[in-house]
Parts: sequence; C-alpha cells; structure tokens
Amino acid sequence: MTPVLLVLNAGSSSLKFQVFEAGEGEDPGCLFRGLFEGLDGSARLLIRDSAGALVADETVEAPAPGHEAALLHVAAWLRANSRDLRLAAVGHRVVHGGLDFAEPVRVDAAVLEALERLVPLAPLHQPHNLAPIRILQRRLPDLPQVACFDTAFHRAQPEIAQLFALPHAMTEAGVRRYGFHGLSYAYIASVIAQHDPALASGRVVVAHLGNGASLCALRHRRSIATTMGFSALDGLMMGTRCGSLDAGVVFYMLREMKLDPAEAERVLYTQSGLLGVSGLSNDMRRLRALAASDPDARLAIDLFVYRIGRELGSLVAALGGIDALVFTGGIGENDAATRAEVLRGAAWAGFALDEARNAAGGPRVTCGPGPAAWVIPTDEELMIARGARAALDHARRQPAL
Ligand code: ADP
Repeated sequence: MTPVLLVLNAGSSSLKFQVFEAGEGEDPGCLFRGLFEGLDGSARLLIRDSAGALVADETVEAPAPGHEAALLHVAAWLRANSRDLRLAAVGHRVVHGGLDFAEPVRVDAAVLEALERLVPLAPLHQPHNLAPIRILQRRLPDLPQVACFDTAFHRAQPEIAQLFALPHAMTEAGVRRYGFHGLSYAYIASVIAQHDPALASGRVVVAHLGNGASLCALRHRRSIATTMGFSALDGLMMGTRCGSLDAGVVFYMLREMKLDPAEAERVLYTQSGLLGVSGLSNDMRRLRALAASDPDARLAIDLFVYRIGRELGSLVAALGGIDALVFTGGIGENDAATRAEVLRGAAWAGFALDEARNAAGGPRVTCGPGPAAWVIPTDEELMIARGARAALDHARRQPAL
C-alpha cells in the first residue's frame, strides 16, 4: 500500500484538498487535487489527477453536506478509486498560529485548544480551518494531524517590524502585526535560489497577488517585513478587501454612518477592493477585459497597481535596497499587464521590463543590470505536505482510508 498525505484547506463553504505520495527523498508528488464547493448548499466535488485530467465531477444535492460529510465523501471516493492508498497523515492549512507556533505542529488536544483560543484573532477563517481537525480527531484519533500556519513564516521578523505604536498593554494582549500568506512566502523562499543562487542571501520582495494580496520582504530567505498586519485586511488593495485604511474611517463608519461592527466588517472584507472601486467585479481577468471601455474598471486596476507601488517602496526601504522582485498568486503568475504596470512604476528602483519575456510569462521578466523580476508559481499545498511529512517521523502505523 502506498502511504499518502492528505492536505486540507478548509474554508467557510469550500474544502480544497490534495493527496500526496508520502515517500521519502524528493518532494512529495501530488496524486490528486480536488475542490468541494458549496458546502452550505448544493455542493459540487471536482477532482483532478496528477496530469490535470478531470477524474470526478459530482453534484451532492442538499441537505448541505458541511465539512464532515464532505470529508467522508472524499475519503469514500479515494477508497473506491485508489484502493492501494493508506492515509499516513493529514496536513491542514490553519490561518493563525499566534505568537507560539512558528513551525508546523503535530496536533494533539492541547495544541487544538491553543488554536481555538486564537479564533478571536481570525474569526472569519480559523473556525473553518479547525473544523476538519476536530472531526478527524474524533473519527480517527490515531491519525497524525499537522497544522501549518499562514503566520508562522513571519514569526522570525525583527520585533520592531511586528509592533504597532499602541500602548504596551495592547501589544501584550496580542494586538500586533502577525502577517499572512506565509506558506506561499516560505515556498518561494525555498525555491528562489534555483532561479539565481545569489538570491539565497539577497534582498527580495515577493508579491503574492491573488484574491488576497500582500507583499513580503525577504533577507537571507527570511521574512523581515510584510504588508498584512493584525488581520488579513491590511496592506495592499485586494479582490474584495480594502487594504490599508486610516483607522479613523472605521470610527466614522460606526459613529456617523451608523453601521454596526458586523456591517462595517462586511464592507471592508467583502465589498471593497477591486469589487468596491469598480462596482463590477473582484476578478482581475474580467476587469482587464473591461478596462478599455469602462473607466471604473480602469480606476480599480490603477489603484491596485498604485497601492502595490507604494507598499513596494516601503519594503525596499525596510530592506535597504532590492535585488529581486517575485510575482506569484493568480494575478502575479498570470496577468502580464499588472506585472508590466508594477515594473514600469518601479523603474526608480532600477527595474527594466523585458516586454517579450513578460508577455511569455517569464520566469525572468526584466533585462539589464538592475534588479531582476521573476514569475514563480507558488505551491502552498506542497509546503503543507512537506510539513506533514516531517511529522511522519513520529507517526505509528495508521488505519487505511
Ligand atoms: P486566491 O487568493 O483566492 O487563491 P488566486 O491566487 O487564485 O486567488 O487569484 C485569483 C485572481 O487571479 C483573480 O483576480 C483572477 O482574475 C486572477 N487571474 C487568474 N488568471 C488570470 C489571468 N490569466 N489574467 C489575469 N488575472 C488572472
């Protein structure tokens, strides 16, 4: 039987998963990747094999399946379609590891309790990330489970980069800059030297531009600053999130506009960003298609790019210069126009856009003696599989799927 690692990324209404071979040596190889969406209603399960071929497309009608039924459904599919797989461990994406978790951690009752205490720091994500852990603990108590955190990579930042200028007691109460997208940044840090060995010790800014978006400054492949802070709202403008905002705006929304806190939160998380400014869509592909004829689509893109430029300047200052910029995430990897606009705006730092290479998707999209810009696809799931596999050293023989 082939031991496999199951990687889970659980959201409020979706469950993304990948199945990796757990073998030793090289990086774990992905056997299947899937998405269970619509868990709060009529759900759809899509699974692709390692070659990208669609191997399952099932609709699961109401009643809403929820995380538990979705997990059972996926396990049943794998049992029926790959009889020789043995589940060796599960790796979970968990958004918040607080101050204590700077590495992937094997989850036991005490760890789960500690992660539950962090729910108030990420109320929109953490409960959904923890739900499958609890379910699997109950159903398969001997199965090793490993939590991998979006915050962990930033824990090694200098203390000064993690502080707000707030009263000491608030810092002590946990109001600090945690940073997110750490699994993506850790992956890029792990492969950057394959593109240019000098970057292993260089000053690099990584732009993770997807629906969520942030920048991270790396020195010696370690995070020294990042644009997201206490929550995943801060920093860059995003698909539906506002990015950096004067805190006074929140008081104004509550006091003068009479929004209650939940409404204000909804506006800032789900009605702002590309969607809010364009009034059309949070989808960069759609906005690009409309930009020539629709001034609001154009304005949304221009603000997105402008905010990247402003935050990039701040991170270059924190690094004391820049040797390379890496684009990743759905927009960073696929939208040549955004890359071109960002790089033209960053000509002051010495970037010279190579139009042809950029249009071709890289990997290097600049020319000349200045700093280089690269396109490097991220792989957060592989980072989770690596973390889960490391924990297997301690695992006992586990039950079949
Ligand atoms: P998430 O943060 O949800 O993981 P992704 O990293 O998948 O998001 O990024 C989603 C974004 O990437 C969307 O705005 C989408 O329009 C954009 N995107 C994906 N492919 C392209 C493309 N070919 N051109 C422009 N934008 C793209």
